[in-house]
Amino acid sequence: MQTGLTRILMVVACSGVLAAGCAGDNRPSGKPETMKRGAANDNKVILFVIDGPRHTEAFDDPAHTHVPRMWDDLRMQGAVVPQFFNNGRTLTNPGHAAIITGTWQDIANDGSERPTKPTLFEYYRKAYAVAPEETYVVSGKGKLDVCSYSTHPDFGAPFGATESVGFEDDQAVFDELTAILRKNKPRLVLACFPTVDRTGHGRDYGGYLAAISQVDSLLHQLWLFLQDDPFYADQTYLIVTNDHGRHDEKNGGFANHGCACDGCRRIMFMALGPEIKAAYTASDDYDQRDICNTVAEILELSVLHSEGRVIEEIFKAAP
Ligand SMILES: [Zn+2]
Ligand SMILES: [Zn+2]
Repeated sequence: MQTGLTRILMVVACSGVLAAGCAGDNRPSGKPETMKRGAANDNKVILFVIDGPRHTEAFDDPAHTHVPRMWDDLRMQGAVVPQFFNNGRTLTNPGHAAIITGTWQDIANDGSERPTKPTLFEYYRKAYAVAPEETYVVSGKGKLDVCSYSTHPDFGAPFGATESVGFEDDQAVFDELTAILRKNKPRLVLACFPTVDRTGHGRDYGGYLAAISQVDSLLHQLWLFLQDDPFYADQTYLIVTNDHGRHDEKNGGFANHGCACDGCRRIMFMALGPEIKAAYTASDDYDQRDICNTVAEILELSVLHSEGRVIEEIFKAAP
């Protein structure tokens, strides 16, 4: 794939030719026009975070009983990374903060601390003067409002995302998300679905499995919604992941999470979008921090403080 940086360099090279007075430059004064600020391209990204399913009830289940839409339909249109991990703290706020900053974030899990490194929202809004309502955090859990901006001195609240948080269940998050997509047309969204985690902590195994099935269906509905909306169709990247898994059977079972067992660390990664390979299974291992750099590649951002890397292998080769 042609990288965002390559594209930017090519634009700079062409501008240089025009400035030197080539035949295509018809502007009367010869001065460059004021550059119109805005996003670098038409790409949109939605990060769809399912809070705390365990891989054994999701992609590692040989029958894929609870994730049929993801496994049978969406996977065939996109790319999955089978070996994908939270290698930081396997709790909700640290996990979401790792996704949105590309760094391991040892922050409180009660919503009292913001990430210390810049979020994707801040990089995006600072680079392109994107309006506040063009970036959103939509979350069932109210404590995830901290993902809207960081405490980093070069960034912070002036570049933060709009927040809409505190919803009872995944259906309510979905309804709010689609209402915002219709009305505000955001270009970068972090959407956080809480019900799998809540039913798990409630030790309701049947409810936990039902929640995985429901969010699987909501994800599919969202993809159809996006393809039916001219602002999003064929320009939107949907990335599905988790903040953490849950304990494997040797380490306490499905009810809780938070340690470094394989069940807690192992999470989903699936991506769909115009430049993403179809029916592709990645061969390398990646972790949560790599989401930040991969989104940055799509939106043509420089994410200086991120420790991740672009998941290059999921993108189609340059034509
Ligand atoms: Zn969580
Ligand atoms: Zn564990």
